[in-house]
Amino acid sequence: MNWNWKFWQKRKANLGVRADSRPEPNTTTDRNDPRLHYGYDTKPTPQHDIYYVLSEEELKKRFVLPVRQVYIHKTCGTKTKMSLDLAESYAAAPHRYGSSYCLHCQMHRPHAEFVWDRSLIPMGSDVPKSSDFS
Ligand SMILES: [Zn+2]
Repeated sequence: MNWNWKFWQKRKANLGVRADSRPEPNTTTDRNDPRLHYGYDTKPTPQHDIYYVLSEEELKKRFVLPVRQVYIHKTCGTKTKMSLDLAESYAAAPHRYGSSYCLHCQMHRPHAEFVWDRSLIPMGSDVPKSSDFS
């Protein structure tokens, strides 16, 4: 399967996703947005006000992974669905995301604690080892 921008736009159209739906309200394409937070939580914490996503120009360059939205926290078994914006950005630049949020535990935790829904592929395990990332 060829996960490039053109392929993904066709697939989105088939899924009924509006072309003008990004960026979504809780995301920003500004890496210097002061509301952005990074790292893990060790106690329950609300989701951040805002998450970083890539601009459409950056997404058009490539996807290195399929776009996947639902993941399972192995610790508690809960499924969490991320916004399409965030899922697209993770598929294009997974190295820019160090943790994911579990709705049940209410914490951002390392990717090693999650698997993708259905495939059960450990999150982060299929990220290409490339020095090509920017
Ligand atoms: Zn959890």
